[in-house]
Amino acid sequence: MDLRTKIKNIPNWPKKGVNFKDITPLLENAKSFQYAINQLAKPFKNKEIDKIIGIDARGFLLASALAYKLNLGIAIVRKQGKLPRKTVSTNYSLEYGKNLLEIHQDAVKAKETILIVDDVLATGGTSWATMKLVEKLGGKIIGFTFLAELKNLKGRKKIKNYPIYSLLSYEK
Ligand code: AMP
Repeated sequence: MDLRTKIKNIPNWPKKGVNFKDITPLLENAKSFQYAINQLAKPFKNKEIDKIIGIDARGFLLASALAYKLNLGIAIVRKQGKLPRKTVSTNYSLEYGKNLLEIHQDAVKAKETILIVDDVLATGGTSWATMKLVEKLGGKIIGFTFLAELKNLKGRKKIKNYPIYSLLSYEK
């Protein structure tokens, strides 16, 4: 199945110069959603993973389905002010803005092995901040996985110390 046909490219949204990858058609279709999750799961079937981390907000949609498929639990990294208990936080910049990400301080235990999941890797700021949060809590990152990466934004560079997987690769 060609998942690209289920991802709509929206030029200049949410601001000029951004090519937004709208994954909602992929999620709305049972076949493409299932196929994407099965493909995302493949490299991790025999890997020792303690927990998946999903990134706010579209990352949650993929991460929770992937966690279910791999028989794992999921922890969440959220934008500022959404988590009710004690958190650790990191500042980051993304393709179209700046933000602060948080995680509950007990969401990752020391030495837990973690797979980080998001929909799109763009500049890598979001993934970098998530990496910092997991590292702060003593987790051991076994990799990052994305539905799509935007090559021209060179996000890989920011998280280059860890294995990076992506199903689809776009020039921009
Ligand atoms: P970045 O931190 O620049 O790698 O941005 C990645 C985060 O922002 C992901 O959580 C994406 O959901 C979102 N994002 C950034 N750029 C795009 C884009 N062009 N299309 C869709 N989502 C994007």
